[in-house]
Amino acid sequence: MRLILLGPPGAGKGTQAKMLDEKFRRPQVSTGNILRKSIQNGTELGNRAKIFMNAGKLVPDDVVIGLIKERIVEEDCQAGFILDGFPRTIVQAERLTETLDEMCLSIDVVVDFEVESEELVSRLTGRSTCLDCGAMFHRTSCPPLKVGVCDSCKGELCQREDDKEDTIKKRLEVYEHETAPLKEYYRKQGNLKTVQGSGTVEEIFSRVCAMVS
Ligand code: AMP
Repeated sequence: MRLILLGPPGAGKGTQAKMLDEKFRRPQVSTGNILRKSIQNGTELGNRAKIFMNAGKLVPDDVVIGLIKERIVEEDCQAGFILDGFPRTIVQAERLTETLDEMCLSIDVVVDFEVESEELVSRLTGRSTCLDCGAMFHRTSCPPLKVGVCDSCKGELCQREDDKEDTIKKRLEVYEHETAPLKEYYRKQGNLKTVQGSGTVEEIFSRVCAMVS
C-alpha cells in the first residue's frame, strides 16, 4: 500500500495518516513532522526550514525531495507508506514519480480531502500539536484529557507557530497556487480519489478505508 494524502492545511491528513498507520501497519511519512523534528533538534536543515515554515511558505523543493528520497528507502517503508504533506508542488510530484519508477514502484491511491475553507480556519486556529509524537488535538472538538499534555505520549502540547491566523491565510493561499494543481496531475494518472473531509474523525476514516483497501 502506497498512498498520498492530499488536501489543504487542516483537512485532517495528519490525523487520518496516523489512523491508517495503526490499522494497516504502514508508516506515516510526514514531511511537516520531519521538518519540525529538525527544528526541535536545532539542525542546520531545521534552522533553514523554520524561516519558510513560520512564514507559511513552502520549504524549497530540493530540501523536501531529498528528505523523502532518504525516508522511503528505509526498511519500514518496504511494504508501503502513507505520504502526508508530500508532494506539495508539481516538481515534487514529478520527482516522486521518477524515484518510484526507478524502484519499479508506484502510488496506489491519492486521497484528496475536501473541506470548506471556514472549517479549515476554525480547525487550525483551535489546534494544538504534540511536540514529541505529532498527535493533534482541538480546543473544542477533540480536547486532550489534560490541558497541554498529549494523551498518547504525555508530551507537551503547543500551538504551532504556523497555526496563527495570519500565517494560516498565507498557507491556504500557497495551497491553492502550489498544491491544488496536483489534483489534475494525479487525476490524469488515474489514481485520484476525493473524500468528503467533514464529519467525525471516525466517519472520515471509514470513508478513507473504503477507498484504499
Ligand atoms: P504540515 O505539517 O504538513 O502542515 O507542514 C507544515 C509546513 O512544513 C508547511 O507549511 C511547509 O512550510 C513545510 N512543508 C511540509 N511539507 C512540505 C513539502 N512537501 N514541501 C514544502 N514544504 C513543506
